[in-house]
Amino acid sequence: MTPAGSHRISINDTTLRDGEQAPGVVFSLAEKLAIARELAAAGVDEIEAGTPAMGEEEVEAIAAIVSANLPLRVGAWCRLNESDVDAALRAGVKMVNISAPMSRLQMRVKLKAEPHEVAARVTRVIGYAREKGLEVALGGEDSSRADLRDIGLIAGAAAKLGVFRFRFADTLGLLDPFSTYEYIKRLRDETGLAVEFHGHNDLGLATANTLAAIRAGASHASVTVLGLGERAGNAPLEEVCVALPRTAEARTGVDPTRLAALAELVAHAARDSIPRAKPIVGADIFTHESGIHVAGLLSDVRTYQGLDPAMLGRQHKVVIGKHSGLAALRSICSAIGIELDAKAGAALLARVKAIAKMTKSLVPDGRVRQLAREEISKHQRGRSDQTAQISGEL
Ligand SMILES: [Zn+2]
Repeated sequence: MTPAGSHRISINDTTLRDGEQAPGVVFSLAEKLAIARELAAAGVDEIEAGTPAMGEEEVEAIAAIVSANLPLRVGAWCRLNESDVDAALRAGVKMVNISAPMSRLQMRVKLKAEPHEVAARVTRVIGYAREKGLEVALGGEDSSRADLRDIGLIAGAAAKLGVFRFRFADTLGLLDPFSTYEYIKRLRDETGLAVEFHGHNDLGLATANTLAAIRAGASHASVTVLGLGERAGNAPLEEVCVALPRTAEARTGVDPTRLAALAELVAHAARDSIPRAKPIVGADIFTHESGIHVAGLLSDVRTYQGLDPAMLGRQHKVVIGKHSGLAALRSICSAIGIELDAKAGAALLARVKAIAKMTKSLVPDGRVRQLAREEISKHQRGRSDQTAQISGEL
């Protein structure tokens, strides 16, 4: 699935931090460890394991994840103050994302500060974290409502202290892919800093914006499993990883065949269910009912296949319902050696459609086969009655 010449994008999963900020979501320590392990097994490069400033229980949970020695980088999220950095140090992480507001509105409301004061505070706090031996990424909160000159000033101050990355956060999910591309391109051209894009999904554009950011030069994508996160959530890990090689000539180290299990694990831990049509991991994304689509797929799978299910360790499934056609019925019956002639097929189709309409649901394969047997024997009886009648006449 990796196009030749594509460049490698680093995936930073924040399910355990931003994901747990989704309303009502609480992960236990065991669940956090299981999720971190599964993310590592899937090939995620980096995780944001939590917010140490939330308290000692969170510090201990992050410490447990660090101690698991998983083959990925474990970071923690900090606000712009030394005590958050101290809490991260207690958790034992080697890397932190220190977040600072980038929009004038958030600077004033949250820090009562102007851009030059935020830059000074960034210098002080990041300087402190660097002295303590931490690798630091600067998190640009509300970057999408910021003046790029302010970002340049603050990120420039951080760059002097050796931060390894700037996180451009579309905190409120306001961007579209076109504006994202422009912002990230200018940011890359003007600061030269490695950029991570962190997109929220308020307009349903988080994945599209992440892909646009990568096309514009971002090298890191901040995502969560199933898009779990604040309000409408974040860019979903599974969508970004599968879409990247197709749309942005980029690839990740994530194994697509592990995405379904990862999604199940996170959904279960979040006490949530996965919508059946959820891209990449939904139960029904390779399930086909429509007669036209099924006939096309059965004669040449490429007719209606955009995404190869095998790439995700899955397969196509044909189901019978109101929109089914004869090809689907024949396929389901012939799988167990029942062959339908035209007459029995037409009668069966009429019956299953009537049942689907009446029950407002699919007709299970077993029921379809039972009805098929009935129709075949009915037609055979009809034929032998006819033969008997003809012999009698003779
Ligand atoms: Zn966020």
